Amino acid sequence: MIELKHINKYYKVGDFQLHVLKDVNLKIESGDFVGIMGPSGSGKSTLVNVLGFLDSDYEGEYLFEGNLISNLIDKKISAIRNKTVGFVFQEFNLIETQTIFENVQLPLLYNGQTSRKTKEIVQTTLEKVGLAEKGNQLPSQLSGGQRQRAAIARALINHPKFIIADEPTGALDTATSRNIMTILQELNQKEGVTLVMVTHDPNLLEYCTHKVEVIDGRVRKEERL
Ligand code: ADP
Ligand code: MG
Repeated sequence: MIELKHINKYYKVGDFQLHVLKDVNLKIESGDFVGIMGPSGSGKSTLVNVLGFLDSDYEGEYLFEGNLISNLIDKKISAIRNKTVGFVFQEFNLIETQTIFENVQLPLLYNGQTSRKTKEIVQTTLEKVGLAEKGNQLPSQLSGGQRQRAAIARALINHPKFIIADEPTGALDTATSRNIMTILQELNQKEGVTLVMVTHDPNLLEYCTHKVEVIDGRVRKEERL
C-alpha cells in the first residue's frame, strides 16, 4: 500500500540544515499494524507526518497504492489526505465547544459527505468505540480514555485506508492505554484497518504486527510473531 524510497528530510534551522530522515526506505502493507519506536527526537513524528501526507517537503519517492504522491502539488495532496488518512494524536485534539457527536461528524462535514444517513453513521462509529451513550456530551465531560476513543471514532468516520496514531496513549495511564490498544487491535484484526502507531512503550508492541525502529533518522522494519 505504502512505499517510501530514499526519503531524506531536512529542517532548516537558521543557516543550518538539520538532517532528520536519512535515506528512509519503508513498505507498509494493507492490514499491517505497525508500531514505531525510537528515542525522543529520532524522527518518528516527522516520519508519520510524511506517511500521513501532512508534510510533502522532502526528497525521495512516496508511492501510495503504486501512485507517486511525492510529485503532486499540495492542494491535490490535501484532497487525497482527507479521503485516505485518519489521525489520532496524544492530546486528542477534540474541539472543546462541540459535542462528541459533532466532533466525530466533523470530517464528513469537511468533505461534504453528509447525507440522510449521517446521524446513523456517526452513531454506529461511536458504538464501535464504546461511546454510544456519549454523543451529546462535551469533551470536558469525558475521561482521557473516552476522549481518545472519540478521537479514534473521528479518525474512522471516513473509512480511511490507514490511520496514523502518534503516541495515542502518551497521556493515558496503563490500564486506559491497554483499553485503547485493544480497540485499535480489534479495528486492525476484525475490520482490517491499517494502523501506523508511534509509541514509547515497548509493552504495546504486543498488539502490533510489525515493529519499525527509528534511530537518528534511520529506519528499520521488523516482522513480529
Ligand atoms: P520524535 O517524534 O522521534 O521525537 P521528531 O520527528 O519530532 O522526533 O523530531 C526529529 C528532529 O527534528 C528533532 O531533532 C526535532 O528537534 C527536529 N524538528 C522537529 N520538527 C521541527 C521543525 N518544525 N523545525 C525544526 N526542527 C524540527
Ligand atoms: Mg514525536
